[in-house]
Formats: sequence, C-alpha cells, structure tokens
Amino acid sequence: MKSIKIFAPATVANLSCGFDVLGCCLDNVGDEMVITLVSEPGVKITKIDGADLPKETHKNVAGVAVEALLEIYGKNVGVHIEIYKKIKAGSGIGSSAASSAGAVWAVNHLLDQPFTANELVKFAMEGEKLASGNAHADNVAPALLGGFTLVRSYNPLDVIKLHTPKDLTMTVIHPQIEVKTSDSRSVIKHDVSLKQAIQQWGNVGGLIAGLFTEDYSLIGRSLEDVIIEPLRSILIPEFKAVKEAALSKGALGCGISGSGPSIFALSKGKETANLVAEAIREVYSKTGLDFDIHVSKINSQGVKIIT
Ligand code: ADP
Repeated sequence: MKSIKIFAPATVANLSCGFDVLGCCLDNVGDEMVITLVSEPGVKITKIDGADLPKETHKNVAGVAVEALLEIYGKNVGVHIEIYKKIKAGSGIGSSAASSAGAVWAVNHLLDQPFTANELVKFAMEGEKLASGNAHADNVAPALLGGFTLVRSYNPLDVIKLHTPKDLTMTVIHPQIEVKTSDSRSVIKHDVSLKQAIQQWGNVGGLIAGLFTEDYSLIGRSLEDVIIEPLRSILIPEFKAVKEAALSKGALGCGISGSGPSIFALSKGKETANLVAEAIREVYSKTGLDFDIHVSKINSQGVKIIT
C-alpha cells in the first residue's frame, strides 16, 4: 500500500477582470488529504473530517475527479481518499477545487506520474462540473500548477502558468454565509457590450503584463471588473465598504474571490496585506456576521506533499 499526505490549496479565481480564466494559488489556506493505493479496485472516500460532505464516490468531487483519471489510465486501481476539510464548501476560495485537484495530483504521483499537469486539470474539472454544473478550470488550474494561471482556451484546453512577482500578498475575507456557485452564476448576464468587453480584455492583458514585468502599479490598475462585479457584489454584505477600506490602506486591488462571498485584496508586501486585513476586520466586525480573514503568500508550487 502506497500512501501520501498532501496539502490541497485554496485558490482565488477570476481576479477581477479574468472571469473563468484567471486564478491564483494560496499558501497557508487549504485542506489536507491522505490518498492511498489499495489492492481492491475502485475509488472510496474513506473519511471526511471537518465538513458535512457526501461520502459516495460519485457525489464527492474528489471521487469523480479520480474516476475520470482512472478511466483514461485504463488499469484496475484501488484508491482510498481521506479528506480533512479546512476550507468550507461554498466559500468562493475553491473548496471543491482543492479536493478534486488534490486527489488527482496525489493519485498521479502515486502512479509515477502518467499524466501531465494539463491532463490533470481536465480530470479535476470533472469535479468542478459536479460541484457547480460547469466544468470551469480557474480554481483547479492554479491549485495544480501553482502561482497565477490563465485558461487561454477551454476547447481545446490550454492552461498557461504565469509569473508570480515575489512581493504579492493576498488578503482574503470569508464571510460565513453560503453563496452557491450556481446561485451567483444565475445573477450574471450572458451578453456583454463591446464597450465593456474592450475594458475587460484591456485589463486582462494589463494584469498579465504587470505580473510578468513585476509592475505592481500596472497590476493594481488592471484589477478592475466592469462585467461581473457590479452584478455579483450585491450578494455580498458590505462589499463596497470592504473594497474602499482595502484600497485606502494601500491594496493594489480588491474584488470578489471566485463566485463569492469571499473577497480578496492583493497587496505589495505582507505589511500592507496585514494593514488591509485589519481595515477589513473593522468593517466586518460591525455586521454581526461571522467571518475568517487570511493573509497568504502566493503559492507557486500548488498541491504539495506534507508529513
Ligand atoms: P467552492 O467555490 O468553495 O468550491 P462550490 O459551491 O463551487 O464552492 O462547491 C461546493 C459544492 O460541491 C457543495 O455543494 C458541496 O457539497 C460539493 N462537494 C462535493 N464534494 C466536495 C468536496 N470534496 N469538497 C467541497 N465541496 C464538495
């Protein structure tokens, strides 16, 4: 029996301008999983700790993602999956993605890496399809590849790892209210105007250029979303106040993490990210809602083995 314990990272998808295509990986926020190869063929979720999630293989994103991998692998393999949840489902920081990405990464590792990172993204996307009805890759790609990632194309799948400027630090607030990905998808419009599209693709290009050239000011100017944020932010209590507080303390940009309700702020340096965290805490303390705040470096490795 071969077994590994892994850290399955939380991720921030969209990053304001990059709906469904941009994402980045967090370093000290995530789940743990233990994946074991066993002799009896089949995929079993043997333990879930810290969350009330389905244990049936076909209802759990980790099970579905590993089954997608094994179908292409084509040999009879037995896998046991233990999930130690620290990221709550529906948080908007890639709870489902952490499980699907973590599970396929670990199985691939235990099988001596028959698949490339891009192929793993495809398998993990099957988990996302189960969670939200839509096989999006903007959380599973950064969880698997680490750092910042771009999904240049879904068909055919073309995922690109971007550069991570070393001082970028993320502050994330997770208000303890559940916003289901499927609900927050229903508020968005499916048509955009040419004027909005021009602003949005200008910002996507600007953000990517800013990451590669480590131009923090350009990164900040590009963290703008004229299409999704105006519609989705109404689902998040105090979104506007949080954003104002974060920017007033020097955050480069602030927006909705994934489909919310989490809100992210990206800063240059840990000191600023901590100040931003304090300012956001002050805003949220007045709401009476429970919330968590995380400050994290960008994890340029993605899923990793822990002991
Ligand atoms: P998030 O953006 O935080 O991943 P989603 O709403 O996209 O949240 O996904 C959460 C949904 O996926 C929930 O309905 C949850 O029951 C389901 N789910 C199934 N398996 C898992 C798992 N292992 N981890 C997290 N969510 C899971």
